[in-house]
Amino acid sequence: MRPDEFRHLGHELIEWIAAYREQIETLPVMSRVHPGEIRDQLPRTPPLKGEGLGALVGDLDRIVMPGITHWNHPGFFAYFPSNSNLSSVLADLVCAGLGSQGMSWQTSPAATEVEDVVMDWLRQMLDLSDAFTGVIQDTASTATFCALLCARERTSAFSQNRGGLQAEPRPLVVYASDQGHSSIPKAALLAGFGKDHLRLIATDENHALRLDALEAAILADREAGRTPCALVAAVGTTATTALDPVKGMVDLAKRHGLWLHVDAALAGTAMLCPECRWMWAGIENADSLVLNPHKWMGTGFDLTAYFVRDPEHLIRVMGTNPSYLHTAQDGEVRNLRDWGIPLGRRFRALKLWFLIRDLGVEGLQAKIRRDLANAQWLKEQIEAAPDWERLAPVELQTVCLRHVPLAMKDDETALKVHNLAIADRINQDGRCYLTPSMLKGRQMIRVSIGAEATERRHVAALWTDLQTAAQPGCCD
Ligand code: PLP
Repeated sequence: MRPDEFRHLGHELIEWIAAYREQIETLPVMSRVHPGEIRDQLPRTPPLKGEGLGALVGDLDRIVMPGITHWNHPGFFAYFPSNSNLSSVLADLVCAGLGSQGMSWQTSPAATEVEDVVMDWLRQMLDLSDAFTGVIQDTASTATFCALLCARERTSAFSQNRGGLQAEPRPLVVYASDQGHSSIPKAALLAGFGKDHLRLIATDENHALRLDALEAAILADREAGRTPCALVAAVGTTATTALDPVKGMVDLAKRHGLWLHVDAALAGTAMLCPECRWMWAGIENADSLVLNPHKWMGTGFDLTAYFVRDPEHLIRVMGTNPSYLHTAQDGEVRNLRDWGIPLGRRFRALKLWFLIRDLGVEGLQAKIRRDLANAQWLKEQIEAAPDWERLAPVELQTVCLRHVPLAMKDDETALKVHNLAIADRINQDGRCYLTPSMLKGRQMIRVSIGAEATERRHVAALWTDLQTAAQPGCCD
């Protein structure tokens, strides 16, 4: 494509995105297509001759849009938010337009140095001390995988330089709560610990890890000749945003020589607000921590912030140094290829740079506070309503609830069918989208607040819709 063609079509597409965001509220949140419906509209074989992109906007409207679930819709209450502030959309455009690849400082110095600065801004915004150094990763899953690799290598005194984990005399063990995200078991398995050496520790009535159960598991492993290696604390679990006791976990980790990694994928963003920081008290002594600005902060998917206390260790685990990657500046700069798994790196830092400049710390804090207040409001409605039950504390922006009609009070199977039907009716209606899920054997409806466009009136409308859907006969 020539630059003049790009200019023409680019203007049209910017218009298209702006119009999309302006009218997003009129669209059904969840895509209504059936499997194969999008695929069937595309030719089975590629065009032999270039056809140009004249038909592009029409095809986006006709073929792609029906297959989109709108994560930036104000009625999006599913999963966790994945906000894409329009400033970060522009940053992604610049990133793609520059087409640079920042694997080494020399391959695009700006990519490294903007990242250095914005990760330090973020560190300050979270009130982390300068004992932490940040680096951008694609996802929290990758960052947690890096953390477990670093833990493995620290505990095994760099077994990777010998026979690897396979030659270790004692198996290494990883601990997390039974409410931890699936990325933790996945990372433990991929890092070679094996399912037999992964302990999912019981949680208390607030769904937070129980320290007594953790200590007992560590001691039992020691007793049996295994080596406790890594501990993952969840600050804001996926199901209920439960808060593991970081301080107590840090103490246990220190006492037993474990690596402590904190998964604050969603909740880390709340720490922009000083009044939320009690939720991760003790964080200063963690070995590593991850948060996802691509969830609640607004940088657009994907951008994960990974902070470590010992960058030299990370570089030793991840670093490769073939001669074709050597550059003259290697002694003076960060070569970010050595701070994670991929060699090539795109210029993700632009998204954080644009977002923070556009909104400022106060603008970002105001949005978090609005969402926290909306969650408290919904919590109060549920507590005041007969036949509705709250299933977990509401510390952040997620509210776990269910409808419990008197006649079904003691019948978990009937409650499951009933609440699934309520959630299904809401999702089919199109104005809102939420995630039903199980919590320790109980069916719940999970309302995750935090899309950028979601105001109080949208939460109030969801509450009205939930009550309507729960009326007898409504979901039959
Ligand atoms: N950790 C927690 C607590 C999460 O809720 C999620 C995703 O929702 C993840 C990790 C994984 O995030 P990612 O998609 O960035 O790998």
